[in-house]
Amino acid sequence: MNNKDLESKKYNISGINGPIVYVYGQTNLKMNELVYVGTKRLMGEVIRLDKEKCVIQVYEDTSGLTLAETVESTGELVSIDLAPGIMSTIIDGVARPLDKIALSNKNFIPAGINVSSLDETKKWETEILVKDGDIVTPGQIIAQTQETPLITHKIMIPYDVEGMLSNVVNNGSYTINDTLAKITTKDGKTIDIKMKTRCPIKTPRPVRHRYIPTTPLITGQRIIDSIFPIAKGGAACIPGGFGTGKTMTQHQIAKYSDADIIIYIGCGERGNEMTEVLQDFAKLIDPKTNRPLLDKTLRIANTSNMPVASREASLYTGLTVAEYYRDMGYDVAIMADSTSRWAEALRELSGRLEEMPAEEGFPAYLSSKLSSFYERAGMVDSINGQTGSVTIIGAVSPQGGDFSEPVTQNTKRFVKCFLALDRSLAYARHFPAINWLTSYSEYTQDFDGYYREKIAPDFIRTQDEIMNLLVKENSYLEIVKLIGSDVMPDDQKFILEVARIIRLGFLQQDAFNKIDTSVPLIKQYKWMKVILYFYKIGSKLIKEKIPMSIIKDSDIFSKLISIKYDVDNDDLDFDKRYFELIDAFYDEKTKYNG
Ligand code: ADP
Repeated sequence: MNNKDLESKKYNISGINGPIVYVYGQTNLKMNELVYVGTKRLMGEVIRLDKEKCVIQVYEDTSGLTLAETVESTGELVSIDLAPGIMSTIIDGVARPLDKIALSNKNFIPAGINVSSLDETKKWETEILVKDGDIVTPGQIIAQTQETPLITHKIMIPYDVEGMLSNVVNNGSYTINDTLAKITTKDGKTIDIKMKTRCPIKTPRPVRHRYIPTTPLITGQRIIDSIFPIAKGGAACIPGGFGTGKTMTQHQIAKYSDADIIIYIGCGERGNEMTEVLQDFAKLIDPKTNRPLLDKTLRIANTSNMPVASREASLYTGLTVAEYYRDMGYDVAIMADSTSRWAEALRELSGRLEEMPAEEGFPAYLSSKLSSFYERAGMVDSINGQTGSVTIIGAVSPQGGDFSEPVTQNTKRFVKCFLALDRSLAYARHFPAINWLTSYSEYTQDFDGYYREKIAPDFIRTQDEIMNLLVKENSYLEIVKLIGSDVMPDDQKFILEVARIIRLGFLQQDAFNKIDTSVPLIKQYKWMKVILYFYKIGSKLIKEKIPMSIIKDSDIFSKLISIKYDVDNDDLDFDKRYFELIDAFYDEKTKYNG
């Protein structure tokens, strides 16, 4: 049988169980092969093969599918089209354009609809960077076009192709299906190079080198940047119950982080909630350029009533697009909201397959699936030599905020940054409600070189000292609960006051305030230094036996808290003024002892 026969081969359907379809008997189907199921040609993927049967998961609604229909082999792995025009759109888990489908079908997505996710007719003004006779290697950038005002889309040679170029077109306007050049490979084959390429979603794109991430993703959010930093090319997780600020935190990162591209994957939430989140995204403005944030954002949506298999695929689709832009040299941040709903899709599919359930009904391979998702994060040299990164930030929504459940616990094994959103902080309107005692980041030490070069040699020590005060506060508060604060020594009382400044001033950050919404790292550092200087001076006063009642009688406490509103983000000499204020405070208080 030659390839052509194989590709057009059809097999009878032997069984249907929701999104799972069985074909009995010997087939030529391959693992992870894309197949079309039934007369509506529903997209499906081969997920299990043995001698007797082949199991297919279908990415679309199988209602009405009958045993009289067939499964059509394609010979290719489940793949998506990649080309200019991806940015700003909304697609579903298998890259079908929800915005275009919505235009043609008002309320729901019909099964088997065949709409290309990309505009096939639009002409892109393209700059050609190669000429006839050039030898090109896999991944090499041969042309570029301005995809949006914020993103230059680089056209790359496919990863399995190299050879000599001919028929290279001139600079001009081309559609994604126009041939820009031909390549003659070593074995004499000629291949057309177009802007549009196809890429399998479950296989990571190849890289030349993976780096240990040593640069933080700067987000402008103090508790993240200064206390629990996320790495560019790293993996982080934000667990939190409803109303704890997951969406807000993601929006803040999307708006203010220094990622070039944002991929938001809305996974399994109810339709109306997700519509709101997606619409909110559409309203965001990129503060650096004043352009709509959509110019650098792709939204992937799979609501709870869309097929579960497509939800499972949505993370891989997001990753594949992210890696594609990474290979152009961009820093891409993926936000997956929520991976709990994604894990529920795995659970449902596994149940249909009658697999032995493990913890809380999740399949035994939950952990390896999560690992294969998070390990696609990375700072890399692509095989074309460009350096880029994929940062993954996964939201987890544990039932009842219980972090001991399997998705949170397994995710913890694969991420190095854990930003635990806390219900009681959110109730108390302490936002971002990231709990400073249960969160962690294992990246901090890896950023030492960055901090030394860009901020200050003692950045990590400063951060440690701030954290130490918060940890001390926590242990003293336990004592206060038992015996009250009256009997506490003054030095401990003073630590409680300084920790209060850190909590209310530094850690709380108001996303709705113009100055406070995003703060440069250097201001964050100087503010920490000011607080620590105040701690030093106050401790000195206490050693000099100035009573706490006298020390507390000063507006310096509230001044240190309201630095967030009083100091502009470009006023980077503010620390000197505050050091002087603290010195004046010391002079005033020492008068008490005569
Ligand atoms: P979730 O997505 O976890 O359900 P949201 O992100 O919608 O929660 O947050 C709920 C509410 O909490 C928001 O509407 C907002 O009022 C408040 N909030 C969350 N984070 C902040 C913040 N950084 N600054 C100010 N308000 C916040």
